[in-house]
Amino acid sequence: MPWPAALERQLKISLQDRVPLAPLTTWKVGGEAEFLLAPRDPHEAHRAFALCQAEGVPTWRIGGGSNILVHPAGLAGLTLWMGRMDSFSWAWRDKGMLLVEADAGCPTRRLLNFCLSQGFSGLEFATGIHGSIGGALMCNAGAGADSMGQSVEWVESVERDGSLRRWDSAEIRFDYRFSSLAAEPRLVTRCCLKLEAAERSLVREKVLRFWSLRKGQPHGTMTAGCVFKNPGPGVEPAGLLLDRSGCKGLTVGNARVSPLHANFVENAGSAMATDIWHLICLCRQRVLEMSGVWLELEVNLLGGPWE
Ligand SMILES: Cc1cc2nc3c(=O)[nH]c(=O)nc-3n(C[C@H](O)[C@H](O)[C@H](O)COP(=O)(O)OP(=O)(O)OC[C@H]3O[C@@H](n4cnc5c(N)ncnc54)[C@H](O)[C@@H]3O)c2cc1C
Repeated sequence: MPWPAALERQLKISLQDRVPLAPLTTWKVGGEAEFLLAPRDPHEAHRAFALCQAEGVPTWRIGGGSNILVHPAGLAGLTLWMGRMDSFSWAWRDKGMLLVEADAGCPTRRLLNFCLSQGFSGLEFATGIHGSIGGALMCNAGAGADSMGQSVEWVESVERDGSLRRWDSAEIRFDYRFSSLAAEPRLVTRCCLKLEAAERSLVREKVLRFWSLRKGQPHGTMTAGCVFKNPGPGVEPAGLLLDRSGCKGLTVGNARVSPLHANFVENAGSAMATDIWHLICLCRQRVLEMSGVWLELEVNLLGGPWE
């Protein structure tokens, strides 16, 4: 039996086929998913991912779509869109320490709002960060010196062999925009975060401080956050290198480098994924020629090959 039919039968669901993925991304570009499933819960996600792995079917994972560029030719196989798995619950551990269990598709912003309204500290860095908690774990999303990894108690994932695994925080390496979870094409289904009780006013103050870091960044335009990672100690930040290389305002088709911040590429209206990709390549080449630095991508490329 072909895998889509087997999956539909086992899960008692219908897959959607030829689904445009652009609306599921913040850049609003990219091709179609050959088949798409939005799992309702971790169990359904587990079974779908495991079956596809067993059948050798390419399985793509999308959370909030705020850090991805989808290839114009689309994604063959199954795309799992995690947006329906958006719930979370919480319980006290010790005095002053809260454990929050969240499904992978839970919007990071929703957890931050919960922390703001209830007075819990630990996620303030997520101010202005889009997407889901699963995506934030895979990318170790962060701002300033703070990032997702520091709040993790455990992460649950489905592995390539179909098994369910719970990772304690000590087993995961988190670094600047890096998580060892991303070393394998696994599916994050749930996680547990530990947060501290704090005065609401203090949480709010911290959130406002993180907002102020965003002053020089574009708002209300279609971007995927920073395109490139900062190169690291002793080298200037990617935005500065790009600016010095004359990238601000550069355009390819309807994609343009933000005139506010050179590390943001905007879809100015009807850009294609190829416009964005060619603009990224152009910027990277300019920085290499001007500064001898090869910038590493922060955004994730889905599909391909990318020429
Ligand atoms: C305006 C703007 C500002 C931003 N600012 C920041 C910032 O300050 N700091 C920062 O770090 N990021 C920033 N970002 C980028 C982005 O919001 C974060 O990286 C976010 O955490 C990505 O989450 P997502 O759910 O959108 O992931 P997606 O874009 O959907 O996916 C990202 C990667 O994770 C994988 N993935 C997603 N969910 C799962 C899952 N459940 N299991 C396995 N793999 C999965 C995808 O396959 C992909 O490889 C910004 C983005 C925007 C649009």
